[in-house]
Amino acid sequence: MNSLPAELIRSLRKLKSFNEEAFISVHQQGGQITSVRMNPNKSWIPDPGSGIRDPVPWCSNGFYLTERPSFTLDPLFHAGAYYVQEASSMFLEEVLKQTVDLTRPVKVLDLCAAPGGKSTLIQSVISKDSLLVSNEVIRARVNILSENMTKWGAANVIVTNNDPRDFQRLENYFDVIVVDAPCSGSGLFRKDPDAISEWSENNVQLCAQRQQRILADVMPALKEEGILIYSTCSYSQDEDEEIADWLVEEFAADSLQLTVGENQGIVETVSAKYNSFGYRFYPDKVKGEGFFIAAFKKGRVNEEENEVKKHPSAPLRTKAKKPVDGVTAREREVIKRSLNDADDLVFIKQQEEVLAIPATMEDALALMRSALYIKKAGIKIGAIIREELVPAHELAVSTLIGPSIARFEVDKETALQYLRRDEIKIETEYKGWALVTFRALPIGWVKVLANRINNHYPAPWRILNR
Ligand code: SAM
Repeated sequence: MNSLPAELIRSLRKLKSFNEEAFISVHQQGGQITSVRMNPNKSWIPDPGSGIRDPVPWCSNGFYLTERPSFTLDPLFHAGAYYVQEASSMFLEEVLKQTVDLTRPVKVLDLCAAPGGKSTLIQSVISKDSLLVSNEVIRARVNILSENMTKWGAANVIVTNNDPRDFQRLENYFDVIVVDAPCSGSGLFRKDPDAISEWSENNVQLCAQRQQRILADVMPALKEEGILIYSTCSYSQDEDEEIADWLVEEFAADSLQLTVGENQGIVETVSAKYNSFGYRFYPDKVKGEGFFIAAFKKGRVNEEENEVKKHPSAPLRTKAKKPVDGVTAREREVIKRSLNDADDLVFIKQQEEVLAIPATMEDALALMRSALYIKKAGIKIGAIIREELVPAHELAVSTLIGPSIARFEVDKETALQYLRRDEIKIETEYKGWALVTFRALPIGWVKVLANRINNHYPAPWRILNR
C-alpha cells in the first residue's frame, strides 16, 4: 500500500478522536468489508449460502457479508433485492429517523445522488406518500442512477439531471435536502489504495470551495426549518467541520445533535467556531470506511441578504399545470390487470408509453417538469397497442407488478442466461407475456411464442461476462 499522505495525518493529529497508530495500522492491513442493504419493498426466498451475517448496528436493513461475492453473477442483485453499500454511510438512516418525522409525507431532495446508495436508502425510510427527487448533475452518471432506482422498484421517485442552482426555481420547496458532496475521498483509502496518490492539500481546498458552492446554490430550495443533511467520505476538517461552521454562519443553520449507540465507535465532533455537531467514522473504530455526516435545521433567512446570494433565475411562483392524463377508461382497464393495486395511481401517457405515479405526486411532477430536466418519473408501465399492454422492463422489477401475471421461476443458470439476453427454454403451453423470476423475484419479461421464447431484458443492462 502507498503510505498515507503525511499532510493528511498531520492535519488529523489536531483531532482528539484521532488515533494515529490504529488508523495507519488499519490501512496497512487493508481488509475488505462488504455490506449490503436489503430492499424492504421486495421479498424473496433467501439463499442459505448467501454469506449474509451480522447486521450493521445503525441500519435496520444493513448486513455484513462474510466475503465479497461476484454481485454481477447474482440474479438477485439485478432484481433489486439489495444494494451493495459501504456500511458507515448507512448511518444516514439514523440521521433521518432522528431529525425528520417520517410518518408524515415529506419531500426529499438527494442532490448528489449517483450511483444511488443514499437515494435507495432514503426511499426505504420515507412513507409511500412522500416524494424523493434523486438528482445527479453529471449526465454520464445519471444512467446508472436511473438504472439503480429502477431496480429498487419504487414509484414515488423522480430522477433528475440538473445543476444544483437549478433547484432555486423551487424556492422553499423541500422538507429535507441531502448533500452527499463530491470530496477528496480520503475515507475510501483502505478500499481503494490507488486513490492515495491522487490526494493533495490543494484538492482538499478545491473540494471545500465546491462544497460551499453546491450548498449555497441549493439552500434556497430548502423550506425554513427544513432539514439539511451534509456528508462526505473525507477526513479533512476543511470539508467536514469547517463546512458545518460555514453553514451556521451563512445560513443561520442550527446544528442538530444526534444520539449514537454506545460502543459503536462513531465519534461525535464539535466544530471550532460554532460548536456544530458532526459524526465521524474511522475504519479503526467502526466496521466500515471513513465517513462524516452532520444535520442542520435551516433557520429563518434574512430576505435581503438571501436575494443577493441567489442565482438570478427566477423562482417559479405559478402553480404548474398538471400533466395531461390521456389514458382512456379502456386503456386503464388493460393497465390495471398487470398491477398490484392501482387505486392510488395516476397514469400519464407520453406518446405511446404510459407512466404510473402515485396520485400524491401529481402536482410535484407537474412542477418538476416545468423546472427541471427529468430523466425518469414513477414507473414506466409500457405501451398499449391494440388493447394489449406491451410491458416495460421497469414494470417487471417494480413494486407495482401484480400477482395475476404469468410467471416462470428459473434456476440460477437459466436466470444468468436470461440476464445475458440469451435465449432460454421453458416447458409450457402458455403463450404471451410472462415474468421470469428467480427465488420468486421478477428479473424481467419474456414473450412466449408458439416456437420460441423472446428475451426482453434491456440490451444495455445485459451481463457481459460469461
Ligand atoms: N450519494 C451517492 C451515493 O450514495 O451513491 C454518492 C455521491 S458522490 C459522493 C458525489 C456525487 O456528486 C457524484 O455523483 C458526482 O458526480 C456529483 N457531483 C460532482 N460535482 C458536482 C457538483 N458540482 N454539483 C453537484 N454534484 C456534483
